[in-house]
Amino acid sequence: MIYICEPAILSILVSTIEAYPSKYLGKKKPKGTASEGEAIGLLFGQRFAKRGESRFNVEIAVPMQIVMKKDSESVSWNDRHFNRIRDTLTLFPNLDFLGTYHSHPFQEGESVQVKHAAASKDDVESAQQIWASWFEGMNENEEVRTGERLVELVVAINAQKHMISKEGKSEDYWLQGYCSTFRYIIAGYYSDDNGLTHCDRIVCPTARLNNTDFD
Ligand SMILES: [Zn+2]
Repeated sequence: MIYICEPAILSILVSTIEAYPSKYLGKKKPKGTASEGEAIGLLFGQRFAKRGESRFNVEIAVPMQIVMKKDSESVSWNDRHFNRIRDTLTLFPNLDFLGTYHSHPFQEGESVQVKHAAASKDDVESAQQIWASWFEGMNENEEVRTGERLVELVVAINAQKHMISKEGKSEDYWLQGYCSTFRYIIAGYYSDDNGLTHCDRIVCPTARLNNTDFD
């Protein structure tokens, strides 16, 4: 199971919405600004086993600010910046590196479906590379109780004409929610040397309640 805590989902959504392409809203990107498109970041938290089930508690998400190339269809990064984030977080012993997330932005008004959060061939390749470097760098004595896997979250997102006040929902390996005028679907995957497989369950109480009118 992948459990996404509130601080993590907030960073994932804010970074994803910030990078959402202006062209999908019928606007030009403001002159001189950095590229818009897919967002990417690292996930940290705890991994443990409960009743035979492996659980990933995603406590925080750290968006990558420096990428090599970003557009509406892809994002690539340099290992130096990736590792700087990872290494800095090792100072916090309660936060293990759990994996990464990235977004798939779609045109305003388009009906985003679960298939839009499917991992592409490139996604599988990069997840495998991240897994291999993590696995290689792991201390041999470190006990990996819940399987030697990482998490990959793919966030399909698109703008709606209006804010929708509706409860989100989750089903098996994906969840759907609303944030401001955006609708999103997050698919959860586990990565290992075999590539990516759907997670068994993804839970995020905050996603369920986004856009609820609390007045
Ligand atoms: Zn992707």
